[in-house]
Amino acid sequence: QGTRTYNFNAGPSALPLTVLEKAQQELIDFRGSGMSVMELSHRSATYEEVHNQAIANLRKLMSISDEYEVLFVQGGGSTQFAMVPMNFLTPEKKAAYIMTGAWSEKAFSEAKLFGQVYQAASSKDSNYRYIPSLDEVKFEASDAYVHLTSNNTIFGTQWREFPNTGDVPLIADMSSDILSKPIAVNKFALIYAGAQKNLGPSGVTVVIIRKDMLELANKNIPTMLQYGIHAKNNSLYNTPPTFGIYLLGEVLNWVEETGGLDALTKRNEEKAKLIYDAIDQSNGFYYGHADVNSRSLMNLTFRVKDEELEKKFLAEAKKEGFVGLNGHRSVGGCRASAYNAVPYEACKALSQFMVSFQQANS
Ligand code: PMP
Repeated sequence: QGTRTYNFNAGPSALPLTVLEKAQQELIDFRGSGMSVMELSHRSATYEEVHNQAIANLRKLMSISDEYEVLFVQGGGSTQFAMVPMNFLTPEKKAAYIMTGAWSEKAFSEAKLFGQVYQAASSKDSNYRYIPSLDEVKFEASDAYVHLTSNNTIFGTQWREFPNTGDVPLIADMSSDILSKPIAVNKFALIYAGAQKNLGPSGVTVVIIRKDMLELANKNIPTMLQYGIHAKNNSLYNTPPTFGIYLLGEVLNWVEETGGLDALTKRNEEKAKLIYDAIDQSNGFYYGHADVNSRSLMNLTFRVKDEELEKKFLAEAKKEGFVGLNGHRSVGGCRASAYNAVPYEACKALSQFMVSFQQANS
């Protein structure tokens, strides 16, 4: 553990220690170039290798076929909320949004600025405790696309199984669970995710887009907001966030070196189980926000049975070196974000702390 804290931040969040150490080692003189990655020209062969390797690694880890382009853009998930409708929402069509939390709402509001949108399903009436069942999701064959948020960072819910939308493009915001488990990429026309939870530092946004979507996309929008421009230029149309892409590539190497996606999935399941067990075995001392069958393996949201105790829990946890356990300001309570790089030991320590806090305060 050393000087490293138990980091349960919701994003930006923990990065693998070995990746940080490698970056530190390579910082001053990157692979014999006499400069850091940050100082390399983005047109240099040395940088290009970093860039292409990161793309190739993501393709391999997520089993992304040649039918798709992998892009690195900027502006975070929030810019994708606008880029998606700007590119794909035509005046004669509607876009269907499945509402599972605050980020779905943001995506929906942004799309409203560009065209006709409607809600294909929503769990707002329950304060977003669950993911709607597949037969609750209503959309039209003529829709421009169906949009969903695969993991709800604030409410702590996650899709288990995705709707089949046939010929209607399915678009997913996977900001908070990308690369946390295997995903059938070919169900989706477009996937986007800010890197700052599972993939690397903030500043890089990954877009995985099916090539036929590039043909459909609107060309009368600002150049930087056209997916096609980034695809045509291998995400080097302008200066990309080079250091972030380098770190993202190193995080992907770390995934590979620690057993690949299957091992990672298993670790994520084990980590979440430690904390959900502490909740479920507490006889109501702790209780989850999410319905059990919609629970997220990434953001574990829970409450302590009364408000005073909850304050005490958060204050004592902080003293014990647990960082980032306060729930999002819009919902309160507690949230442990156990993204890919959060070690098993951190989750073990948190579950033990939860048990001993309960014993001391029951
Ligand atoms: N979507 C989800 C699911 C998120 O969790 C977040 C940020 N926490 C965003 C979108 C917004 O991303 P960004 O801050 O990169 O714009």
